[in-house]
Amino acid sequence: MTPPLWARAALLARLREAREWDLAVVGGGATGLGVALDAAARGLAVVLLERGDYAQGTSSRATKLVHGGVRYLAQGDVPLVREALHERATLLANAPHVAQPLAFIVPGYRLWELPFYGAGLKAYDLLAGSRGLGPTELLGARRTCELLPGVRRQGLLGAIRYWDGQFDDARLAVLLARTAVSRGALALNHCAVEGLLREQGRVCGLRARDAETGEVFEVRARCVVNAAGVWVDAVRGLDRDRDAPPPPPMVAPSQGVHLVVDRGFLPGLHALLVPKTHDGRVLFAVPWLGKTVLGTTDTPRHDLDPEPSPFPDEVGFILSESARYLARAPTRADVRSVWVGLRPLVKPADDDGGDTKALSREHVVSVARSGLVTVTGGKWTTYRAMAEDVLERCMARGLLPRRPPGATAHLPLIGAAPGRPLGEPPGEHLYGSEAQALRALPGADRWLWRDPESGRGGLSEAMVRFALRAEMARRIDDVLARRSRLLFLDAAAAAALAEPVAALIEQETGRSVDAAERAEFAALTLHYRSLP
Ligand SMILES: Cc1cc2nc3c(=O)[nH]c(=O)nc-3n(C[C@H](O)[C@H](O)[C@H](O)COP(=O)(O)OP(=O)(O)OC[C@H]3O[C@@H](n4cnc5c(N)ncnc54)[C@H](O)[C@@H]3O)c2cc1C
Repeated sequence: MTPPLWARAALLARLREAREWDLAVVGGGATGLGVALDAAARGLAVVLLERGDYAQGTSSRATKLVHGGVRYLAQGDVPLVREALHERATLLANAPHVAQPLAFIVPGYRLWELPFYGAGLKAYDLLAGSRGLGPTELLGARRTCELLPGVRRQGLLGAIRYWDGQFDDARLAVLLARTAVSRGALALNHCAVEGLLREQGRVCGLRARDAETGEVFEVRARCVVNAAGVWVDAVRGLDRDRDAPPPPPMVAPSQGVHLVVDRGFLPGLHALLVPKTHDGRVLFAVPWLGKTVLGTTDTPRHDLDPEPSPFPDEVGFILSESARYLARAPTRADVRSVWVGLRPLVKPADDDGGDTKALSREHVVSVARSGLVTVTGGKWTTYRAMAEDVLERCMARGLLPRRPPGATAHLPLIGAAPGRPLGEPPGEHLYGSEAQALRALPGADRWLWRDPESGRGGLSEAMVRFALRAEMARRIDDVLARRSRLLFLDAAAAAALAEPVAALIEQETGRSVDAAERAEFAALTLHYRSLP
């Protein structure tokens, strides 16, 4: 069943071809993958290179919400919310196996809260119009406790229920890469861009290195798009003469932390939203893949470590605020995984790096004198609209031939088929119409890990084989962090699977997994288990 299309050897052979591509994209997160898919769907010749794995940067570390952004509505940013609500509906339609509606409950403990939040969320509903996912409703205290059994009952007056969406971010990223490849693009992970090719001051391609073999490629392209997330400034730094100073940074990173605890803390399939914690922040408790995700924070950060650590006060904030709203307060000992992502917020020219909440949540596309196009900012939910914007800019500047927009508005991603709520434990439903191909692989009923609370779903041997044959996974963490999300759900359980997964990698790919890779994965699982 291996589609040769996705075999690494076939992709590398195409990268070696002496040719000029229309577009080369740096970075395989939401932004770069969205651009590559849109360009390929418009019939352009596209290559995308990712130095790690797809979504290994910020795009696997989101809160997993497909949302219009209620809090941006509170800030009066109606166009931003309207666009995101439109994109929410598009994503849920094109990838229903990995993106589903999710009901949120905003509990009220003070008299003013219910009418205040009710009115705001009704406005959110109205903005969504026919693309709304369900009505905003006022709930009494008893109904609130039925739907959200984990909520703190003492003093509860009632709640507002409203609808948004939820997804599996890393699986969506891999689907974007695979759909782009099925449309003729060349997408390759574990291949870092190390330099830009320049002629007479114009960028005309890039230089990249295959992480597995060390082979170096020169890739010529009419247009190069830098979609390297919080790392865009390093790629912009490659676009200059030897002695020229680096360009002023575009990005001010802001860190967001999530803690994962058992589903027992928030049983059911409703999420909890606290719009204003005691110090004015937002807190989510979200059922996701059989666990509960608590978060998040928004803390300025000046380094760009690919595996950042949480700050002690971020962990303290999430646990202490969760304790105020959950009937059973989670403690440090209950945390099964902690993960940290860096938001690529766009820096105003005179910013001093102080308050990241005040920085722009919108994306920015900039075109350098050399023709290098840089895109950063925005959010997962709007990746498709961002891609249209980027391509429009490239075409308007004559960097790409004109092709009409809209190619991805109704483009189902690979495997698209009716799905199930993302709050349920992971299982074959996440594979959509490919579930049958998955079941045909050896080990479909050999479970390497079972969801402990439900005894359903989990990670089967066939899922690991599928990741290696069809989903372009290469390393232990590609399989256990981003095809399966076990590292994010339960880091100790992921650590225990390193050996069986390494054995399957060797069997399926013929690549030997050396001691260094095993040690790196062990260190990673420790990192995801360690609280400061
Ligand atoms: C804590 C947190 C919660 C969030 N929650 C949500 C949410 O619920 N919903 C939502 O819609 N959005 C959410 N977001 C926003 C969203 O996750 C990001 O906007 C989005 O993932 C950014 O994607 P990106 O592709 O720009 O960056 P990235 O995902 O970081 O991708 C950039 C990629 O470029 C690669 N790269 C860098 N340098 C090179 C090089 N030289 N060569 C090759 N590759 C390179 C990196 O390895 C990386 O994979 C959240 C963000 C954070 C931080």
